[in-house]
Amino acid sequence: MKKIILLLITLTVFASCKNSSEENGKLKVVTTTNILADLVSKIGGDKISLQSLMGAGVDPHLYKASEGDVSKLYNADIIFCGGLHLEGKLVDIFEKMQGKKNTVSVGDRLPHDKLISSANFASNYDPHVWFNIQFFKQFAQIVTDELSKADEENAETYAANNKKYQAKLDDLETEIKSIINTLPREKRILVTAHDAFNYFGKAYDFEVVGLQGISTATEAGVRDVQKLSDFIIDNDVKAIFVESSVPRRTIEALQAAVLSKKHKVEIGGSLYSDALGNPGTEEGTYIGMFRYNVNTIVNALK
Ligand SMILES: [Zn+2]
Repeated sequence: MKKIILLLITLTVFASCKNSSEENGKLKVVTTTNILADLVSKIGGDKISLQSLMGAGVDPHLYKASEGDVSKLYNADIIFCGGLHLEGKLVDIFEKMQGKKNTVSVGDRLPHDKLISSANFASNYDPHVWFNIQFFKQFAQIVTDELSKADEENAETYAANNKKYQAKLDDLETEIKSIINTLPREKRILVTAHDAFNYFGKAYDFEVVGLQGISTATEAGVRDVQKLSDFIIDNDVKAIFVESSVPRRTIEALQAAVLSKKHKVEIGGSLYSDALGNPGTEEGTYIGMFRYNVNTIVNALK
């Protein structure tokens, strides 16, 4: 019996050695959202071992870490998070890890005078920074710098990947601007479930109104729904949008309020706000998600 136990222990040790040798030399990177995971994968490529805590359809404002997540975070060499209180329920964990773990909060690294202030939100700034492509390019640079610092040997690869990705992001911006230009200015009113698109609106010239605030943690009240339904009627807004990481009922309540006042507003589609789509789909990448959102918005409001 003892021999069998010993054999089992030896096998287990061997198995775990094999596992760590497969990862050997690769930097272990963990991201909070899958938006950041896509970015880090574009820069790190096959030189890193990457895990994301949140997948498609997951709301970062409400996300709580599981035990498995905590051990992933403690085993990581670098952690990338959105910061600016985007991951509202993970703030305590990150504070506990301060000084022990290399945690890079990309949103907090941007110059604060370029951010949109929000007095009612915990960080005082709107954290949905990735909807300005120029800011996402800065995220790419931050990720490149941090990966290169932690893993100098592969710094050239990270720099080359970054250069390629920056060019693709520039192409994306040119493309979406030309799509947006087909929509007359007076029709550029974007009504969504929560306030995730302020940076998008500021950068690409849309008036943006969210039913819930910056965070989904506060539910919209009856008065918010009534006020926004009047706004939709007054401005003759043709369509409003649900979000993949927020329950549909918030926007459906708004649509019902407009209908009850004998006006019509369509649900123009589902936008990706705080999470990308499923892996392997177009919308599972930042670039595909952005293109999808802009096409959905422009087609519905035309
Ligand atoms: Zn959000």
